[in-house]
Amino acid sequence: MRALLIGRFQPFHNGHIKLIGEIAKSNEELIIVVGSAQQSYTLDNPFTAGERIEMISSALGKTKFKQVYIIPIEDVDSNQIWVSHVKAMVPRFDRVYSNNPLVKELFRNDGREVVSTPLFRRLEQSGTNIRKLMITSEKWENLVPASVAEVIHSIKGDERLRNLAQKDE
Ligand code: NAD
Repeated sequence: MRALLIGRFQPFHNGHIKLIGEIAKSNEELIIVVGSAQQSYTLDNPFTAGERIEMISSALGKTKFKQVYIIPIEDVDSNQIWVSHVKAMVPRFDRVYSNNPLVKELFRNDGREVVSTPLFRRLEQSGTNIRKLMITSEKWENLVPASVAEVIHSIKGDERLRNLAQKDE
């Protein structure tokens, strides 16, 4: 079976790793779509698609998949055509894994099997929380795989967020 997982991964964190661990239990191949690929250098989307791909591939070393595809995809203006847009850009897949209500709704309307998992320590394990900790210079490294923390440090990602959060006065 080939599974599809879509996320912004801003940044890729331990909640995503747990989700991928669940996917690995019943799928041999995984397609990871890096969504909102056109976005970077904003408070909600600080990391480029390329940086996010680096984070994900650094953390997937130990997974058991026969094949993993990591594909960046830009957003489109219309939600109604988004699933077609995604399907045109990725290999064929058997099921979609998502806990995002909009993603689930759009793929279900396309007749796709959509699987959700429990949320793993969602208050802590969320991109929003991790970006906030970076801005306030608090500890965030324990919430992402060690290899992802290394990538973020090497691109000064936390410093980038603090710079973006400054007011121009
Ligand atoms: P995300 O990085 O927040 O999450 C990725 C997946 O991991 C989601 O299913 C999420 O629910 C799950 N997850 C996150 N933390 C978790 C935790 N602690 N435990 C378990 N699961 C957890 O990404 P997202 O916001 O879901 O990404 C959706 C992408 O799809 C975005 O890039 C969005 O722009 C894109 N999209 C685009 C359109 C359009 O272009 N019209 C429409 C719909 C969606």
